[in-house]
Amino acid sequence: MRAIVKMKPVAGVELVEHYPEPEIDADQVLLEVGATSICGTDAHLYAWDESARAFDPQLPLVMGHECAGTVVRVGANVRGLAVGDRVAAESHIFCGACYMCRTGNAHNCYNLKLLGVTRQGAFAEYVALPRSVCFPLPPTVPFDVGALFEPSGNAVHAVQRAGNLDGCSVLITGAGPIGLVLIQLALAMGAASVVALEPNPFRRGLAAKYGARALDPSEADLAAIVRADYARQGGFDVGFEVSAAPGTHEQLLRAVRREATVVCIGLPNRAISLDVSEFIAKKMIVLKGVFGRRIWETWEILLALVEAKRLDLAGMITHHLSIGEFERGIALLKGDAAKVVISPN
Ligand SMILES: [Zn+2]
Ligand SMILES: [Zn+2]
Repeated sequence: MRAIVKMKPVAGVELVEHYPEPEIDADQVLLEVGATSICGTDAHLYAWDESARAFDPQLPLVMGHECAGTVVRVGANVRGLAVGDRVAAESHIFCGACYMCRTGNAHNCYNLKLLGVTRQGAFAEYVALPRSVCFPLPPTVPFDVGALFEPSGNAVHAVQRAGNLDGCSVLITGAGPIGLVLIQLALAMGAASVVALEPNPFRRGLAAKYGARALDPSEADLAAIVRADYARQGGFDVGFEVSAAPGTHEQLLRAVRREATVVCIGLPNRAISLDVSEFIAKKMIVLKGVFGRRIWETWEILLALVEAKRLDLAGMITHHLSIGEFERGIALLKGDAAKVVISPN
């Protein structure tokens, strides 16, 4: 089969024409991939930078973790899924047996394997998936939108961690795909206003389209915005840090009000310092994080909002490319693009 394979621990990938098709065991299904979207993590794996190496991927690796497709084979133990069913994949492959899995926190499994990162992925014609990570898609959801459930679910989870957004002012640092979903979700869930900081003008345009006041972080004076619009509360009620850009955590912690909630989604590639006295002890900010989606609540919420047309995922797809154009897709992430979708066939 055709596949995008990370062969060596250096920058780059190879498009392999005759890569071996994955075998499935009794608890797995074989998926004919309909669409896979490119994520920032793929760009890190492509570049083989510090963030990529931190996951300790074993090579050769078929990349790709945001995917949807059609079941073409089922293992002997698989129940509730049949050949021809359409599914999207939860990329966090959980063990089902550890303490976190047994207490309803499978997204934070102690034995987590990551599709397309620490386990063979979906920039390929076929991918093997455990039955346990398959989310059935109704016919109303095309594969390219289904592939976007994985990254978008992070935003749903972040909103869940933030709690009630009724009437809240929200500050989001980073309007890439997850930030763009966050803007839509926050407003759909009752936020009064959303300010989004994003350096890329194209993405600022999308952020504004979805209802945010979109600003260039190099020009925005957050203290002045707070004085002008949020003086009553003393700052934003809720913050979401998505960009992992240097300095944004401190910027966000300064711009939120006392006792605000801040949720971290972006993954900085090294430790950053935090003034615990000022922000956590005295200002009493509640600092939280998310990594992945709550299984399966976030998926069900997403599906309901997409079907009700309260959430526009299709509008975030700026490019459809063939698998042979993968490297162009990686380059596009730095340019005027939001979500780039690859079709393997
Ligand atoms: Zn991703
Ligand atoms: Zn587990």
